[in-house]
Amino acid sequence: MPTAAGEKTSEARYWEKLEDGVAHCLLCPQDCRIRPGQAGLCRIRVNEDGTLRATKYGRCASAAVDPIEKKPLYHFFPGSYVFSIAAFGCNLRCRHCQNWELSQGDGEDAALTPAEAVAAAENWRGGGHHCVGLAYTYSEPMVWIEMVQDTAKLARRQGLKNVMVTNGYVREEPLADLLQVIDAMNVDVKAFTDEFYREVCSGRLAPVLRTVEAAHRAGCHVEVTTLLIPGRNDSPAEVTRLVEWLAGVSPDIPLHFSRYFPSYKMDEPSTPLESLRQARDIASRRLRHVYVGNAWELDANETLCSACGAVLVRRSGHAADPAGLDGERCRECGERANIRVGNGERA
Ligand code: SF4
Repeated sequence: MPTAAGEKTSEARYWEKLEDGVAHCLLCPQDCRIRPGQAGLCRIRVNEDGTLRATKYGRCASAAVDPIEKKPLYHFFPGSYVFSIAAFGCNLRCRHCQNWELSQGDGEDAALTPAEAVAAAENWRGGGHHCVGLAYTYSEPMVWIEMVQDTAKLARRQGLKNVMVTNGYVREEPLADLLQVIDAMNVDVKAFTDEFYREVCSGRLAPVLRTVEAAHRAGCHVEVTTLLIPGRNDSPAEVTRLVEWLAGVSPDIPLHFSRYFPSYKMDEPSTPLESLRQARDIASRRLRHVYVGNAWELDANETLCSACGAVLVRRSGHAADPAGLDGERCRECGERANIRVGNGERA
């Protein structure tokens, strides 16, 4: 797939040259071997005359200042905002993608250099918004890694935070590099069977779990989201396996169950509230913080103290009020909470 005429490209990182001008991309487990003039599965890494290019470097398809709760990140500066940016492209092919216009589309985008992105986040720091940094989100930021790395390095120098909302589908070496500059991640664990990943997403489960484990080990703040789809990944047995694995990584990692609605190529009916309630009950036995998104009826979005049950962070929609926190501790009983506040140190 040739790039549009005049489109700025940058040489990609994480690839090797094979015979006959073939580029072997080493960024994600899709393991694409790309012939000259062709693109990888993510569509935005393109072999131009034997060199792999990151065609969306310096391009932005969507930008907005969002509440951090919207990512969702509930334990990382609750009540703050992040300047959120995205490019077209994704390295999975989820049939139920909730953001397919960006992940699978290729419409108009605009120029945005790393310095401009950081300057925009800086601007939003004032003016009434408590903007703590940048979010790389909406589509799949892993396949935009050169832009993310360069922007995140600049942001760090300005004292801004970097957060990623990602499918976690990346190889170990680029992930280790990213973890040098990313402060928080919400990783989408789409199901807990390899069969689901293969059939619905054109990927595999193991690399995603490895990403969560590695990010947590590296001291990155991690939260996990699972979109529950009726009959596909919401059985009590599968939810139990997911929860047991996550509790083994750390019972302090917040888990967000999210309600599915028909989208893109999947038209199964939306998730019954009972299924979400059941998943929340299973998870709450092993994890300290379990939330349910896209289902305000369940009223499952307050952060409670794991010791005394007091409300630490009250939420309404995407607005959050951390009035129950005294710095990093529960105002009622003094228990420490796994929430980053203030200067960004782990509470
Ligand atoms: S990042 Fe894109 S080109 Fe590289 S292996 Fe993954 S899908 Fe293929």
